[in-house]
Amino acid sequence: MGYLEIRKTIPEHVFLLPVSKTKSYESVLEAYGEGARAFGENRVQEIEKKFPLPEDRPEGMLVFLIGQLQKNKVRKAVRLCSRIESVDSLDLLKLIDKECGKIGKTIDVLLEFNSSGEENKSGFRSEEDLKEAAEASKCLENVNLLGLMTVGPLGMDEEKNREAFRRTRLLFEEVSSSICPLSVLSMGMSSDYLQAIDEGSTEVRIGTAIFGGRA
Ligand SMILES: *Cc1c(COP(=O)(O)O)cnc(C)c1O
Repeated sequence: MGYLEIRKTIPEHVFLLPVSKTKSYESVLEAYGEGARAFGENRVQEIEKKFPLPEDRPEGMLVFLIGQLQKNKVRKAVRLCSRIESVDSLDLLKLIDKECGKIGKTIDVLLEFNSSGEENKSGFRSEEDLKEAAEASKCLENVNLLGLMTVGPLGMDEEKNREAFRRTRLLFEEVSSSICPLSVLSMGMSSDYLQAIDEGSTEVRIGTAIFGGRA
């Protein structure tokens, strides 16, 4: 385990985002020492507690938010993160744009797609709503839409995983060709990242396989 070991199992063109949620800042620094620069976190409060302010972090260290974002945390999130991968509504996208406008920042965003249709998962359920948000992003000056993110279905059913990843990839291609060019397709976690890469992922978000299990 460790960042470098996992990096070796992933093709060069695929970005590896180590997910450091629940892990210590020492673990973050260890992965940083091995070359990791961006870290995935799912709670704004945890980012605030764990990481120094952006201007005080080691050179090049970035935090990407990958967990559901509450409206009342947007202001903090845009200050602490350089990317938000879990945008799940047009309202949230507009609020992110507005808060960025106030501090003169442009932020990178991904739209999260609920590709499994599972009730307890966040993300856009409707492809139409997601496309509407992608379209709207073109008029929002402070957000830069990079791509899509999805979390695969629960369980270890390989065919189900692939099906969800395939749906997301098709949507990615459709948005890319008919609305705005996208470059990031974030899918795949510790248990399914090889399948996700096989289905066209350009970024995998890996926690357990790098940092060990979570309580
Ligand atoms: C926790 C988390 C991950 C990493 O999960 P592992 O199974 O530990 O690799 C990836 N994506 C999201 C959105 C997460 O919340």
